[in-house]
Parts: sequence; structure tokens; C-alpha cells
Amino acid sequence: TPAWIFVNRSLALGKIHCFGFNMDYTLAAYKSPAYEALTFELLLEHLVCIGYPHEILRYTYDPTFPTRGLVFDVLYGNLLKVDTHGNVLLGAHGFTFLSEAEIWSFYPRKFIQRDDLQRFYILNTLFNLPETYLYACLVDFFSGCSRYTNCDTGYQHGNLFMSFRSFFQDVTDAMNNVHQSGCLKEKILEDLEKYVEKDPRLPILLGKMKEVGKVFLATNSSYNYTNAITTYLFSISEAEASGRPWRSYFNLIVVDMQKHRFFAEGVVLRQVNTDSGKLHVGTYTGPHQHCAVYSGGSSDMVCELLGVRGKDILHIGDHIFGDILKSKKQQGWRTCLVVPELSWELDIWAREKEWLEELKRLDTHLADLCQHMDGSCCKLRVISFTKREIQMPESVVEQEQASLDPASCLLSCSQRSLLVKSRLSSAI
Ligand code: IMP
Ligand code: MG
Repeated sequence: TPAWIFVNRSLALGKIHCFGFNMDYTLAAYKSPAYEALTFELLLEHLVCIGYPHEILRYTYDPTFPTRGLVFDVLYGNLLKVDTHGNVLLGAHGFTFLSEAEIWSFYPRKFIQRDDLQRFYILNTLFNLPETYLYACLVDFFSGCSRYTNCDTGYQHGNLFMSFRSFFQDVTDAMNNVHQSGCLKEKILEDLEKYVEKDPRLPILLGKMKEVGKVFLATNSSYNYTNAITTYLFSISEAEASGRPWRSYFNLIVVDMQKHRFFAEGVVLRQVNTDSGKLHVGTYTGPHQHCAVYSGGSSDMVCELLGVRGKDILHIGDHIFGDILKSKKQQGWRTCLVVPELSWELDIWAREKEWLEELKRLDTHLADLCQHMDGSCCKLRVISFTKREIQMPESVVEQEQASLDPASCLLSCSQRSLLVKSRLSSAI
């Protein structure tokens, strides 16, 4: 499969002397939807353990519902799709999409303060997909359960009030538990083939990179998990497992990196005993040993140990904040964001190009028509481009939605193009 690389500024690869890789969802791509379905199941089990009704176990993960980047409104329990400025494009309460009127009443000016992190939680990594779906399931379950009374900010059950904020707290705790207790990782390691993608080109690529520069691995995962995953990724065949050890592909390996502190003040740098997986007591102060494994530390320590400067490093990761923005803005590293959904989206974009072109043409056509209207004219009926009448939305700004369901805004471009296609083919 071809890989797409987009650049938003020029980058002289010849000037890159060091390549840094994150592990989870960067080097180790988890298989979808198997990985999310497993996480979802464990999340449900955890919630039942802490007292949620058993009936929620009936839900199974549906990969077609969540997309990355949605926002959970912890006040009203809605999942929102918002643009970069905070304009609300679409909302769902459980699995019910909000009408235009509902969106306006929940969100004055159809706008949210995205940086109000107390209220709006951005589900921005692939790890968040099962969590996103879980919010929809919980709202769906409690809204439809006769034992509970629906209120604006949650559900009443006798003298007990379950707020959407408490869902948020419980789901966040469940996520931390599933990831940190080891129950998820244990299941992954029991069946690596089922949950982790393996690409035989990976050792070749990293081997070549190491010939021309320094290569390091930096992950939030623990040493034992990292060791098991990378042993699998770098063993091309069973026979190869006893060949070149994975650690020899890296000049430096950092585990338990605690990203939010790693690119700032950092934490104590400890050496990992690779036989036992245990940490040495005290801060490591010795010289860098080839393919040694460290825990914690900071980006400054990595530069020092490897003898490189921030500008020499190309840091490759999947977490837009933790891996990319922090290393770029706080340390001046060069960065590369891995977005697996993009290649799928682009394939569909190429395949469905003519329908998307048609949509663009209709958008322009509509904009031209709207230009000839005065501001007081809100409703427009257009018969021009199909034989069928289409009711246009309330404001000119929402032209984009004219030929689509409101729900289409939540969809990815691929889903959207399919919708446009079916809509157009039934209309023309
Ligand atoms: P990295 O992407 O290689 O830095 O590793 C990400 C690590 O964070 C993995 O070990 C995940 O299991 C863990 N992780 C992902 N999401 C959560 C969460 O919500 N809470 C706690 N740990 C998480
Ligand atoms: Mg990652």
C-alpha cells in the first residue's frame, strides 16, 4: 500500500541526524476494530464492577459510529463535532442526532469554547474511540431506561442523581484502569496476531535509518510491554525471533516517558534492567550505552545522551498534542504526525472524486444564488439542479449542508461522499 506524506513546510531530510519514534499507534498499529472492541468490552466490565447496571453489557462495539476528534460535553452529555474554531457542526445525544434547533438551544451561536477543558473533553487519539462509543451507549441506555428520569444534566433515580459529569469521571477512571492495570495489555500479548499489525518492512526501514543517523524510541508504555510488542514487530518470521534483537535498531530507548513532563521539566532518568524489567534506584548519570533502556527522563536528557540538538531530530508520533505539538513548540524538534485514517480517506477521495466535484459545483452554484438574495430572506427553495425540490437550510452559512442530512457533518469525507452519491443518484 502506498504511503502518503503531506508537508506543511519544507524539510531537508539531509539535515535530519536523528529519528525518534513513538510506539503505540506509531510503530505498533493496533488492528481495528479488534483492539477497540476489546477495550470497549473491558471498559463495560469495569463500569459494571463499580456498580453500573448489568444491562450495559449488551452493547457491542460498533466501529461505524465513532470517529476521532469528537468532543464530549460533560454538562449535557452530547457528543459534538466542531470545527477548528469551535463552531458546532453536529451533535448526538446517545445515538440520536440533535436537530438544528436543539443545537442552537444547547449551544448559543452554535459555538463552544473549545478551550473550556472543564466542560469539553476532546477525544483526540485512536485510544479514545472505544471511549467515544461508550459515552453514546451510556446516554442511550439511561435515556431509554424506565427506572431513570431524564434531566438536563443527567438522570434521576430515586434520591440518586447521575450527572453526565459523573459518567465522564467514571469512564475516565475506567480508561485509566483498563490501560494501567495490565488487563488490556495482557489480552493483547496473548494474541498479538489478532491485535497488532505486523509489517515486514519495518526492520528494513529502521535498519536503513540507523545507517544514516541516530534512532530512538520513546513511549509512555512500560518496558515489559514495549519489549513484548517490539520483539513481535521486529521478528519477521519465527526463525528471525532469535536473530537481530529489536533493541539493536535503536541508539536509545525511553519507556514510561510521561509525555506531559518529558517535553518540559522531565522526571528522574533511571536505567532499566533489561533482564528483570526492574528500574535501577537513583538517577542515571553515566555515559550513554548503546541500545540501553531508560525510564522517564526528559527531551533535554535525550539530546544530551545522543549528542544531538532539537533541530536535528525528526520526531514521529501519533498523538497530536503529546508527541507533536509539545516536541515542536516546547523543544523545536521537527515533527511528523502519523494519521492512519488519512490513507483510507484519500483512497475514497480519489475513487469518489466526481461526486465530490459535483458537490463542490453545487455549493458554488448555491453560493451564487444566495449572493442575489437580501439578508432578510432566510428560506430558499431551489429547483435548479435536480428534478426534485430540495429544502435549503436556514442560513447561507450552512450551504454545505443543503443537499445532505444534518448527520452527514459528523461523518468523515468518505462516509460523506457515499451519502452525497446516494443522495444525488436518487435525486437526479
Ligand atoms: P505511546 O503512544 O507509545 O506513548 O503509549 C501510549 C500508552 O498510553 C500505552 O501504554 C497506552 O496503554 C496508554 N494509554 C492510552 N490511553 C490511556 C488512558 O486513557 N489512560 C492511561 N493510559 C493510557
Ligand atoms: Mg502513540
